[in-house]
Amino acid sequence: MPLRAVLFDWGDTLFHAPHAPEVIVDFARSCGVSVSESRAREMWDEIWTMGKTMEEIAKGRDLSPEAHRRVWTDLFARLDRVVPGVSDALYERVMNPQSWVPFADTRATLEAVRGRGLKVGVVSNVPADLRPVFAQHKLDRLVDSYTHSYEVGAEKPDAAIFLAAAKSLGVKPSETLMVGDHEVDRGAERAGMRVFILPAEFDEDVRGLAAVFDLLQ
Ligand SMILES: [Mg+2]
Repeated sequence: MPLRAVLFDWGDTLFHAPHAPEVIVDFARSCGVSVSESRAREMWDEIWTMGKTMEEIAKGRDLSPEAHRRVWTDLFARLDRVVPGVSDALYERVMNPQSWVPFADTRATLEAVRGRGLKVGVVSNVPADLRPVFAQHKLDRLVDSYTHSYEVGAEKPDAAIFLAAAKSLGVKPSETLMVGDHEVDRGAERAGMRVFILPAEFDEDVRGLAAVFDLLQ
Protein backbone atom coordinates (compact mmCIF):
# COMPACT_ATOMS: atom_id res chain seq x y z
CA MET A 1 0.00 0.00 0.00
CA PRO A 2 1.61 3.31 -1.03
CA LEU A 3 1.90 6.05 1.57
CA ARG A 4 -0.46 8.99 1.33
CA ALA A 5 0.30 10.74 4.59
CA VAL A 6 2.99 11.29 7.20
CA LEU A 7 2.07 12.07 10.79
CA PHE A 8 4.64 13.86 12.91
CA ASP A 9 4.87 14.07 16.66
CA TRP A 10 5.48 17.65 17.84
CA GLY A 11 7.66 17.69 20.99
CA ASP A 12 11.27 16.61 20.45
CA THR A 13 10.41 15.54 16.89
CA LEU A 14 9.58 18.80 15.05
CA PHE A 15 10.05 21.34 17.87
CA HIS A 16 12.10 21.56 21.03
CA ALA A 17 12.57 23.73 24.11
CA PRO A 18 16.10 25.01 23.67
CA HIS A 19 16.36 27.33 26.61
CA ALA A 20 15.46 25.36 29.75
CA PRO A 21 18.97 25.33 31.32
CA GLU A 22 19.19 29.07 30.67
CA VAL A 23 15.89 29.59 32.52
CA ILE A 24 17.29 27.66 35.51
CA VAL A 25 20.53 29.70 35.55
CA ASP A 26 18.71 33.04 35.18
CA PHE A 27 16.06 32.26 37.78
CA ALA A 28 18.68 30.99 40.25
CA ARG A 29 20.72 34.16 39.77
CA SER A 30 17.66 36.33 40.44
CA CYS A 31 17.29 34.48 43.78
CA GLY A 32 20.95 34.87 44.64
CA VAL A 33 21.73 31.18 44.02
CA SER A 34 24.67 30.25 41.80
CA VAL A 35 24.04 27.41 39.33
CA SER A 36 26.50 26.77 36.50
CA GLU A 37 25.34 26.23 32.93
CA SER A 38 26.53 22.61 33.00
CA ARG A 39 24.79 21.89 36.32
CA ALA A 40 21.59 23.45 34.99
CA ARG A 41 21.81 21.24 31.91
CA GLU A 42 22.24 18.14 34.09
CA MET A 43 19.27 19.17 36.21
CA TRP A 44 17.10 19.73 33.16
CA ASP A 45 18.16 16.57 31.34
CA GLU A 46 17.42 14.50 34.44
CA ILE A 47 13.96 16.00 35.00
CA TRP A 48 13.07 15.85 31.29
CA THR A 49 14.04 12.18 31.12
CA MET A 50 11.86 11.50 34.16
CA GLY A 51 9.03 13.35 32.45
CA LYS A 52 9.22 10.93 29.56
CA THR A 53 8.73 7.78 31.63
CA MET A 54 5.52 5.85 31.09
CA GLU A 55 4.70 6.39 34.77
CA GLU A 56 4.57 10.18 34.28
CA ILE A 57 2.82 9.91 30.92
CA ALA A 58 0.12 7.70 32.48
CA LYS A 59 -0.92 10.62 34.72
CA GLY A 60 -3.08 12.09 31.95
CA ARG A 61 -1.22 15.40 31.88
CA ASP A 62 -2.07 16.11 28.26
CA LEU A 63 -5.83 15.84 28.59
CA SER A 64 -6.33 19.35 30.00
CA PRO A 65 -4.33 22.51 30.75
CA GLU A 66 -5.05 22.02 34.48
CA ALA A 67 -3.68 18.46 34.53
CA HIS A 68 -0.64 19.58 32.53
CA ARG A 69 0.25 22.32 35.00
CA ARG A 70 -0.31 20.08 38.04
CA VAL A 71 1.65 17.04 36.82
CA TRP A 72 4.62 18.97 35.43
CA THR A 73 4.87 21.36 38.38
CA ASP A 74 4.83 18.38 40.77
CA LEU A 75 7.74 16.88 38.86
CA PHE A 76 9.69 20.15 38.59
CA ALA A 77 9.23 20.67 42.36
CA ARG A 78 12.18 18.30 42.89
CA LEU A 79 14.39 21.12 41.61
CA ASP A 80 13.00 23.53 44.20
CA ARG A 81 15.38 21.89 46.69
CA VAL A 82 18.27 23.34 44.68
CA VAL A 83 16.63 26.61 43.62
CA PRO A 84 13.46 27.45 45.60
CA GLY A 85 10.63 28.46 43.25
CA VAL A 86 12.28 27.29 40.04
CA SER A 87 9.44 24.83 39.35
CA ASP A 88 6.97 27.62 38.62
CA ALA A 89 9.53 29.51 36.53
CA LEU A 90 10.21 26.41 34.44
CA TYR A 91 6.53 25.75 33.93
CA GLU A 92 5.76 29.32 32.88
CA ARG A 93 8.76 29.84 30.62
CA VAL A 94 9.57 26.40 29.21
CA MET A 95 6.31 24.47 29.06
CA ASN A 96 4.48 27.12 27.09
CA PRO A 97 4.40 25.70 23.51
CA GLN A 98 4.84 29.25 22.16
CA SER A 99 8.38 29.25 23.53
CA TRP A 100 9.37 26.11 21.62
CA VAL A 101 11.26 26.35 18.33
CA PRO A 102 11.52 24.11 15.27
CA PHE A 103 14.62 22.01 14.73
CA ALA A 104 16.91 23.22 11.94
CA ASP A 105 15.67 20.47 9.59
CA THR A 106 11.93 20.72 10.34
CA ARG A 107 10.92 23.11 7.56
CA ALA A 108 12.88 21.33 4.82
CA THR A 109 11.43 17.99 5.89
CA LEU A 110 7.82 19.15 5.87
CA GLU A 111 8.36 20.85 2.50
CA ALA A 112 9.89 17.70 1.02
CA VAL A 113 7.07 15.47 2.28
CA ARG A 114 4.47 17.83 0.88
CA GLY A 115 6.52 18.15 -2.31
CA ARG A 116 6.09 14.42 -2.84
CA GLY A 117 2.33 14.86 -2.80
CA LEU A 118 1.85 13.42 0.69
CA LYS A 119 -0.34 14.93 3.37
CA VAL A 120 1.20 16.08 6.64
CA GLY A 121 -0.46 15.74 10.03
CA VAL A 122 0.74 16.70 13.49
CA VAL A 123 -0.36 14.38 16.31
CA SER A 124 0.63 15.39 19.80
CA ASN A 125 0.07 14.72 23.47
CA VAL A 126 -0.43 18.37 24.33
CA PRO A 127 -2.93 20.43 26.37
CA ALA A 128 -3.07 23.41 23.98
CA ASP A 129 -3.68 24.26 20.33
CA LEU A 130 -0.47 23.99 18.30
CA ARG A 131 -1.76 25.96 15.28
CA PRO A 132 -0.51 29.34 16.58
CA VAL A 133 2.88 27.79 17.31
CA PHE A 134 3.30 26.61 13.73
CA ALA A 135 1.91 29.91 12.43
CA GLN A 136 4.43 31.86 14.50
CA HIS A 137 7.21 30.09 12.58
CA LYS A 138 5.37 30.27 9.23
CA LEU A 139 5.14 26.48 9.13
CA ASP A 140 1.33 26.40 9.20
CA ARG A 141 0.96 26.19 5.42
CA LEU A 142 2.94 22.91 5.51
CA VAL A 143 0.52 21.10 7.85
CA ASP A 144 -2.84 19.70 6.73
CA SER A 145 -4.24 18.75 10.14
CA TYR A 146 -3.53 18.89 13.85
CA THR A 147 -4.68 16.16 16.25
CA HIS A 148 -4.32 17.21 19.89
CA SER A 149 -4.80 14.78 22.80
CA TYR A 150 -6.86 17.29 24.78
CA GLU A 151 -9.37 17.56 21.93
CA VAL A 152 -9.54 13.84 21.13
CA GLY A 153 -9.75 12.87 24.82
CA ALA A 154 -7.07 10.22 24.31
CA GLU A 155 -3.29 10.32 24.58
CA LYS A 156 -0.61 8.43 22.71
CA PRO A 157 0.00 5.48 22.81
CA ASP A 158 -3.81 5.00 22.62
CA ALA A 159 -4.65 3.95 19.05
CA ALA A 160 -7.66 6.29 19.14
CA ILE A 161 -5.56 9.44 18.68
CA PHE A 162 -3.74 8.02 15.64
CA LEU A 163 -7.02 6.88 14.09
CA ALA A 164 -8.45 10.37 14.65
CA ALA A 165 -5.41 11.84 12.88
CA ALA A 166 -5.81 9.55 9.85
CA LYS A 167 -9.51 10.37 9.69
CA SER A 168 -8.77 14.10 9.77
CA LEU A 169 -6.55 13.66 6.71
CA GLY A 170 -8.97 11.37 4.88
CA VAL A 171 -6.43 8.54 4.65
CA LYS A 172 -6.38 4.93 5.82
CA PRO A 173 -4.03 3.90 8.65
CA SER A 174 -2.31 1.51 6.23
CA GLU A 175 -1.44 4.50 4.02
CA THR A 176 0.11 6.40 6.92
CA LEU A 177 3.58 6.69 8.43
CA MET A 178 3.96 7.99 12.00
CA VAL A 179 7.25 9.71 12.86
CA GLY A 180 8.09 10.31 16.50
CA ASP A 181 10.79 10.23 19.16
CA HIS A 182 9.21 8.20 21.95
CA GLU A 183 7.77 4.80 22.81
CA VAL A 184 4.27 6.34 22.91
CA ASP A 185 4.51 7.06 19.19
CA ARG A 186 4.71 3.30 18.59
CA GLY A 187 1.04 3.15 19.51
CA ALA A 188 0.42 3.99 15.84
CA GLU A 189 1.36 0.37 15.03
CA ARG A 190 -1.71 -0.79 16.91
CA ALA A 191 -3.73 1.59 14.74
CA GLY A 192 -2.35 -0.20 11.66
CA MET A 193 0.24 2.42 10.67
CA ARG A 194 3.89 2.23 9.86
CA VAL A 195 6.11 3.84 12.51
CA PHE A 196 9.54 5.43 12.50
CA ILE A 197 11.16 6.39 15.81
CA LEU A 198 14.00 8.90 15.49
CA PRO A 199 17.33 8.07 17.16
CA ALA A 200 17.64 9.49 20.67
CA GLU A 201 21.04 10.99 19.87
CA PHE A 202 21.35 13.83 17.40
CA ASP A 203 23.40 16.89 16.59
CA GLU A 204 22.20 19.77 18.82
CA ASP A 205 19.78 21.54 16.47
CA VAL A 206 19.46 19.08 13.55
CA ARG A 207 16.98 16.35 14.49
CA GLY A 208 17.89 13.93 11.69
CA LEU A 209 14.48 14.08 10.03
CA ALA A 210 16.00 13.46 6.60
CA ALA A 211 15.97 9.75 7.51
CA VAL A 212 12.24 9.89 6.86
CA PHE A 213 12.84 10.33 3.13
CA ASP A 214 14.26 6.81 2.85
CA LEU A 215 10.91 5.49 4.03
CA LEU A 216 8.94 7.35 1.38
CA GLN A 217 10.45 5.55 -1.62
MG1 LIG B 1 7.79 13.66 21.33
